[in-house]
Amino acid sequence: MSVLELDQVSRAFGGIQAVDGVSLTVAPGEIVGIIGPNGSGKSTLFNLITGVYRPDTGRILFQSQDITGWRPYRIARLGVGRTFQIPTLFQHLTAYENLLAAAVEGDWRGAPRRADEVLHLLTLDHVRDERADNLSGGQQKLLELGRVLMRDPRLILLDEVTAGVHPRLREVILSAVRELRDAGTTFLVIEHDMELVRTICDRIVVMDFGQVVATGTFDEIAADPHVMEAYLGR
Ligand code: ADP
Ligand code: MG
Repeated sequence: MSVLELDQVSRAFGGIQAVDGVSLTVAPGEIVGIIGPNGSGKSTLFNLITGVYRPDTGRILFQSQDITGWRPYRIARLGVGRTFQIPTLFQHLTAYENLLAAAVEGDWRGAPRRADEVLHLLTLDHVRDERADNLSGGQQKLLELGRVLMRDPRLILLDEVTAGVHPRLREVILSAVRELRDAGTTFLVIEHDMELVRTICDRIVVMDFGQVVATGTFDEIAADPHVMEAYLGR
């Protein structure tokens, strides 16, 4: 059974076909990278999967359940988590409180313990009681990921989660992703860092002008002329 299946999903904004007939299947425990030039439709794809936007046409299945057109909170509740390019923290709350706040709809009783586990996994124990606005940019990104982990999603969408993050914290994110994957979590990651894509992605999907123009392992897509075209042809 697949975790996620997109069947000919499209979405336009005005005259712009942001996502154009994308079909994609993601297997349990896979880490799939989404790459492509700016404006190629990557973030829109995440917004369609998480219900922020409705597709104009096509179908989206999560664990075989048709979630096309569902509201974001229902999709989140089913087990889809996502980070935003710009962290969405409560700046005046502590790291720990930000994690607890993410569990509001979830498991209240388990939340304090889970919050400490998540802080430990992300090496944020020492800033547990610091306000979010006192954290470095990289620590804020880790905390944003931590908020997602509070709900134990089956599928996690990461939108440029390591962009601008200190190399040491980047390693923390990578090892957390690997650890979660080994425990059965599935990932879809938008990334510009090709070294990271090469290291952690089992499979890569290349987008250009809203369409999937190539898919395969890193070596396969690196040898695909469409990929060079997508990056150099604009
Ligand atoms: P990427 O994440 O690959 O850089 P996006 O998905 O953000 O690309 O954008 C794809 C295209 O859709 C761009 O041309 C962008 O301007 C357009 N777009 C995305 N969201 C909206 C929106 N809410 N309203 C209008 N245009 C949008
Ligand atoms: Mg984007």
